[in-house]
Amino acid sequence: MSKNKVRVRFAPSPTGPLHIGGVRTALYNYLFARKNGGELVFRIEDTDSSRFVPGAEDYIIESFKWLGIQFDEGVSFGGDHGPYRQSERRDIYKKYVKQLLDANKAYIAFDTPEELDAKRQEIENFQYDASTRGMMRNSLTLSKEEVDALIAEGKQYVVRFKIEPGREIHVQDIIRGDVSINSSILDDKVLYKSADELPTYHLANIVDDHLMEITHVIRGEEWLPSAPLHVLLYEAFGWADTMPRFAHLPLLLKPVGNGKLSKRDGDKLGFPVFPLEWHDPKSGDISSGYREKGYLPQAVVNFLALLGWNPGNDQEIMTMDELVNLFDLSKCSKSGARFDYQKGIWFNHQYLLQQDNMAWTPAFDKILKENGIESTPEREAQVVEMMKTKVIEYVDNDNNKKKRNISFVSDLWPLAKFFFVAPEYDKEDKFVRKNWKEDTAADMQELAVVLSGLTDFSVESQKAAVDPWVEQTGKRPWNAWRVALVGTGQGPDMYELTAFLGKEETLNRIQSAINALG
Ligand code: GLU
Repeated sequence: MSKNKVRVRFAPSPTGPLHIGGVRTALYNYLFARKNGGELVFRIEDTDSSRFVPGAEDYIIESFKWLGIQFDEGVSFGGDHGPYRQSERRDIYKKYVKQLLDANKAYIAFDTPEELDAKRQEIENFQYDASTRGMMRNSLTLSKEEVDALIAEGKQYVVRFKIEPGREIHVQDIIRGDVSINSSILDDKVLYKSADELPTYHLANIVDDHLMEITHVIRGEEWLPSAPLHVLLYEAFGWADTMPRFAHLPLLLKPVGNGKLSKRDGDKLGFPVFPLEWHDPKSGDISSGYREKGYLPQAVVNFLALLGWNPGNDQEIMTMDELVNLFDLSKCSKSGARFDYQKGIWFNHQYLLQQDNMAWTPAFDKILKENGIESTPEREAQVVEMMKTKVIEYVDNDNNKKKRNISFVSDLWPLAKFFFVAPEYDKEDKFVRKNWKEDTAADMQELAVVLSGLTDFSVESQKAAVDPWVEQTGKRPWNAWRVALVGTGQGPDMYELTAFLGKEETLNRIQSAINALG
């Protein structure tokens, strides 16, 4: 089997929505494949039917579509190493289980759950291994006739891997270097269960990686403990010389405190841990997703790419193509990567501002519609131009008032409402109190007269009319004028705002303010 071409795979189990850590794993596989002119396979590991969740597979496929992570073959993509769903590969696994049994590298075990429990009671730290298998009910202790009879009777059994003790097993990991453990600490793992005629993860994973000609296994650190067993399985099958190379990625850590990132951290601090919103089919619970929260896929990709890897300098903003170019598996860190979700927000801000104003408008228009406002993309884009570099105030999880740059399209609405809806006037507003004085109404009346004479309401035309009036009268209409238009001391350049609102609306607001504030 030629193993020249890099082939990697992402092999999720469809047990629920894809966690953001899984997205990072897939991304690194994608970057590695592209960088090396290789191929990325999408395999579904669904041999544990008890954990199957309907909709999970489609969810995962949709997530990658959104993120721009493309697969070359696999479930829903086709290819000539299929089928790519493990539940459709039963017969293939049976053949390989038999191979191990025939070679005496695996054995059949009939111990019932009750018998196993009894042994656990009897022997402290019981483990099914070389030290105990001789006292159990299996094909090593029973005669061939007894075994055949039990199977003929329809007794359930499992196939266990016969691990020889006392051997130092070495895993060569691209990120971690040489990782070794002694085989004596491993138990005789179950590889196959007659009950559902399905292999376990370990067997299916190894057989498929072999048959699908996988050259590199890039996966999360949580799978590192399985790697020594996998090395032994490759050997047992006689595939040691084409064994894939391993790379176990660092854990994603909680934003604060110790331990790995969990959904609860996201719930507590208010950030998603899933790429797309997920509706749990059983409980009906909804978990938030990056897409629905208003993140751009490029921002999510860029943010995730830097969780456990960096290009070796402090470059942060990178397109997918740049990431592919720069990516280097051996530069991934061993230690866990803190999930700094604020950094994710920062990335979104960066990518949002790189966009064309028009690209903001579908999401902005949706928000406007939700608030009963009809507008046009052109007008919305004008508002984006005037407001996108503003700062918003928000309350953080500890109830502290904070400020940040506009980072989501939805940040615009509270800041830009007045473009679309006349403000309510509040006499107690600090800015109003300071700037709306006794003679303000009269000044505003005069200003209204100046403006009402205009037919052209462009910035230049307004300036040409208002500036001489300001000069002659020495009046300072700006802050009160702003109150009339915005309700307080915010907003863009005054003339840009009035040009946007138009003459009628500008004059209406001035009149309303006079009526309300006197
Ligand atoms: N099915 C495993 C998962 O859910 C795959 C682990 C591996 O990549 O070997 O992540």
